[in-house]
Order: sequence, then C-alpha cells, then structure tokens
Amino acid sequence: MKKVLTLGLSLLAFTGFAQKTILHCGSLIDVKTQTVLKNRSIVVEGKKIVSVSEGYLSPSKGDVVINLKDRTVMPGLIDSHVHLESETNPGAYLDRFVKNPGDVAYQALVYANKNLMAGFTTVRDLGGSHVVISLRNAINKSLVEGPRVFTAGVTIGTTGGHADDSNGINETFKKDLGPEDGVVNGIADAAKAVRQRYKEGSDLIKITATGGVLSYAKDGSGAQFTDEEVRTIVQTAKDYGFKVAAHAHGKEGMKRAVLGGVSSIEHGTYMDEEVMELMKKMGTYYVPTVIAGRSVADSSKIPNYYPEMVAKKAAAIGPIIQGTFGKAYKAGVKIAFGTDAGVFGHGKNGYEFILMNEAGMPVLEAIKSATVNAADLLGQSDLIGSIEVGKAADIIAVPGDPVADVKLMTKVNFVMKDGKVYKN
Ligand SMILES: [Zn+2]
Repeated sequence: MKKVLTLGLSLLAFTGFAQKTILHCGSLIDVKTQTVLKNRSIVVEGKKIVSVSEGYLSPSKGDVVINLKDRTVMPGLIDSHVHLESETNPGAYLDRFVKNPGDVAYQALVYANKNLMAGFTTVRDLGGSHVVISLRNAINKSLVEGPRVFTAGVTIGTTGGHADDSNGINETFKKDLGPEDGVVNGIADAAKAVRQRYKEGSDLIKITATGGVLSYAKDGSGAQFTDEEVRTIVQTAKDYGFKVAAHAHGKEGMKRAVLGGVSSIEHGTYMDEEVMELMKKMGTYYVPTVIAGRSVADSSKIPNYYPEMVAKKAAAIGPIIQGTFGKAYKAGVKIAFGTDAGVFGHGKNGYEFILMNEAGMPVLEAIKSATVNAADLLGQSDLIGSIEVGKAADIIAVPGDPVADVKLMTKVNFVMKDGKVYKN
C-alpha cells in the first residue's frame, strides 16, 4: 500500500498534476483597494493561492469546489494583540500560584483554536511564557491545530512595572526577577533581556512602556523605562531582527517608546495630538484594543472580579480607549487591528470591528487594518494579508454583506488556513 502511495505521489509530481481547490466567491473583498468584487474564483494548490479570476471556474477532474456564492470572502484576519496563554476570570490572580506550564499549555491550545475558528488565521501573541513558543512550534509542525502564531514570548518590563510577575506577592514567594524573567533595570539588563528572548525563540519583543490595568500595582499611566533603556531595547532588537511592540497608556512613556523607535503602541489610552504627530512622523502603528478597554470597564463593575486596586484602574482607563482610537484614526495614524484577546474571552475578537466602526472607521478600512496593515506590522506582507497569487491560502468568509452589517464580522463561517479548511 505504501509503495502504491509513493508511486502515486511521484507520478503526480512528475506530471505536474495536483489536486486543486476552487473557491466560488459571490463577493470577494480586495483589501488593498477596499472594494468588493462580484463572482470570483480563487484556486488553491497545496498551501498557496495559485490564481484569482473573474467568474466561476469549472473544475477539472479531481478538483474540489467550495461554494461560497452566498458569502463575502476575504483574507484570513490577523489579530495583532492576543494572549494565548490566559483568559480573564475572577480567579485569574491565583493562576500563577496553582497552574503548572502543562496546565497553561492545554488551555492555550483551546484558546488558540477559538481565535482560528473566529476567522483569525494569524495572531501576534504579546506576552506569556515559554509555553506559547512551544505552542507556536507545535502548530507549525501540524502536531496540533491553531492559527499562525508570532509571539513575543516573555514580556519585558522593569521592577514593579506592568510585566513584573512578582507584583503584589507576599515576601515568602517574592523573588528578585531579572532579564531572564523579563524584568530589567539599566541598559545592560535591557540588552540581555532582548538577547534572552532571541535564545528562547521569540518572534518579536514586547515591552511595557507604562503601567497597566491588570497588574497588581497602583498606577497604570506612569512611564516605566528610561529613554536609554528603550533605545537599548530597540537597538538590540534590530540586531536580532526583532520589531518592538510597546504597551502604553500614559503620554510620557508613549513618547519615549515612539521616539525610541518601537514599531507599535498598544492601547495608547492617553495619546494626545502631540503623540499622534510623532507616531505619524516615525511611522509607528497604533494597535487600539478597544474591546479590551470596554471589557475591563464592564468587569470592574462586578463585585470582587478584580482586586480593588485593579478595578479602579479598569474603570478609569477602559472607557477612554474607543475615543482615543477615533481621534487617532481621524488624525491619520496608521492602525493595525488588535484586541488583547485573553483580557476578554478568546474568539470574541471580531467584536472589535463593531467598536472601530462605531468610532468612525468604515468597515472595509477596519478589515484592511486586520489584513494588509497587520501583515505589514508583522513584517509578513509577502506571505499573508491579501488574497493574491503566491500568498498563503488563508481565506475566510462571512454570511452576507459585512459592509452593510458589521456584526457579520463576528459570524465567520468559513476558515481556511494554509489551504486546509478548518470551518465550513
Ligand atoms: Zn495585552
């Protein structure tokens, strides 16, 4: 049997005859021009798109046809900000004491799958442990199913900062964390932490340029790196081929990060016109995570959902992000779609489109931010972000017209990644 199979495969290779999948698309979004094309056929061979043409192509013998004539087809979506290892729950603050890496790995696998099923064929994971690196590797080897993952691995912060995992822990368990754990003080530490991420196999670097909402610390807005530390991180990152994503809420930390040369600002809550101008000048992307702001503000109203200190920050910072996004969009700042999934339930990422649209961004432009722009931010435009010949066959569809009803972006009912159908 094995022999026959091998013979069959080599015959296919010899004749250049391979099975194709033809997608008949009633509507197809050209994300680059933000137009909706009617009656198109996409031909997929192996993991790649081999043609896109007008009309409905007839299959040759052995070809598979997928009927998407009543749907709107678009490139696989990209979420530029997720945390695959965790998901919000009132007991989350206990997790670090009771969960082992194995526990985290199994739940991360489930969360990763929810992202894929929601149409997010690629995610940029902005911070976790070594587990997410192993998960990425397992997905790439097809040992398990999940979206294409690019991960920062361990987030880099400063002592007492948003990424210091020992915040709020009593002295029995408290450790003095260092660059290996993603906690730096001074430029030698800053360089070492980036090199450590390289050693571990991260794809990019994430820093927490200011305080944050969910860490057990008082203030979410203050700057937490010196100018020198930021510049060292960005420079070292460049040496290793990394881009740097900066979590930031307050203005001063955001300015230092933008001027230091980071590729993106995450959340950006208190961004003002001066910062927006700087970002435009430096070409920095803004990843808004509006839904995360909305979600933490909602959860802060539930008694005992967060520790009191955190609830206060969530109530103050959360509701502001949507307004900031609206202003940044109108000011012409480059936007890459990102949600902070994990801070709310994985798989609900598509609700971000509704909130972006509500803040003034047309649906097709929001879709562009989740495809063309997010691929550019990842440095992966040659592979993903549009439906074009030679690119990965990452293709999704929604039932009906999302331009008329943005809510359809939460109802993705066809998912193909690397030419394989995961949902139909
Ligand atoms: Zn985050």
